Amino acid sequence: SKKAVLGPLVGAVDQGTSSTRFLVFNSKTAELLSHHQVEIKQEFPREGWVEQDPKEILQSVYECIEKTCEKLGQLNIDISNIKVWLDLRTQSTVESLSKRIPGNNNFVKSLTGGASGGVHCTDVTNASRTMLFNIHSLEWDKELCEFFEIPMKILPNVRSSSEIYGLMCLGDQSAALVGQMCFQDGQAKNTYGTGCFLLCNTGRKCVFSEHGLLTTVAYKLGRDKPVYYALEGSVAIAGAVIRWLRDNLGIIKSSEEIEKLAKEVGTSYGCYFVPAFSGLYAPYWEPSARGIICGLTQFTNKCHIAFAALEAVCFQTREILDAMNRDCGIPLSHLQVDGGMTNNKILMQLQADILYIPVCRKYYQLMDSKDASSLPMERVQ
Ligand code: ADP
Repeated sequence: SKKAVLGPLVGAVDQGTSSTRFLVFNSKTAELLSHHQVEIKQEFPREGWVEQDPKEILQSVYECIEKTCEKLGQLNIDISNIKVWLDLRTQSTVESLSKRIPGNNNFVKSLTGGASGGVHCTDVTNASRTMLFNIHSLEWDKELCEFFEIPMKILPNVRSSSEIYGLMCLGDQSAALVGQMCFQDGQAKNTYGTGCFLLCNTGRKCVFSEHGLLTTVAYKLGRDKPVYYALEGSVAIAGAVIRWLRDNLGIIKSSEEIEKLAKEVGTSYGCYFVPAFSGLYAPYWEPSARGIICGLTQFTNKCHIAFAALEAVCFQTREILDAMNRDCGIPLSHLQVDGGMTNNKILMQLQADILYIPVCRKYYQLMDSKDASSLPMERVQ
């Protein structure tokens, strides 16, 4: 059957540590029309090293785009309506674009150049993550550049997060904060992916943490608009612990299976799992920390370990939230959440129980589901 004319579609590549996704939305209703996801490999060649293959990442982007377009074709949706991925339409288009940028073999860099039509710029949120940007004056910092031996002339112009100057986007965690509509002072979101990233909007105040958090630029939504700041706490290992249980211990075959194991016992039975595989991030910043599983008895089985792994993600988030509440003075009233792990209902319930505040998850649905046009919200408390 022929679908109604949908108008412009928006395509987005989400290239994460664990997987690559391509999603196509109806630009008017924000409904998700189709998507495809491919998991990508991580190699651990020796202690403390993590490697990913850029060619595989690139291939996974192509594959996701192709498969999504196939699915759209099956739904009789015209892919020529997709507006933002011109330079990724086919491999040959990308290759010919890269060739036109002189002396540039770096794909990512060439893509940025190709997509932004010769404009060399970035926004305040991306700039604030480089350690070279002065977040007060909103300029590249001479002393920092000297310290890191970065010639200032190679740095892009820094612009606001919301103006049309080519194709650009907010830094990923700031984008999630904006996507969750955390525009008020004190609103926070936590993203549960490979790691966890909890950001709390501190408004126009640049709050410096006394409890191990980072201060970052949240957004600047227009050239003449003010800059907003956020406090950020990150957990190095969150979804990665589930992947470790799958790939290194083999106690689950897929990440989703962890929920079934945890549900079987509903308790860790006194077992604690600290997945400090690559040190501890906020609020400890201890690179020499290493993981531990303790409280084992003869009764402990893989289900208890699965449960303890989920609890570990929640406890780590709790520590960040506690630090944030101390720095901000006003306790958070609820937490908005996103990321791959938030599909796990037990995890979300545990998180609400451990934080003692409601946890709210918005989720998108595919078009052929019953109520695709609205964005439902699930609240766990
Ligand atoms: P990233 O953007 O860092 O690649 P994602 O937001 O895509 O991460 O989330 C992927 C991570 O979430 C993986 O580490 C995976 O193990 C974990 N994950 C996915 N589904 C589940 C689930 N149902 N329960 C627990 N963890 C999950």
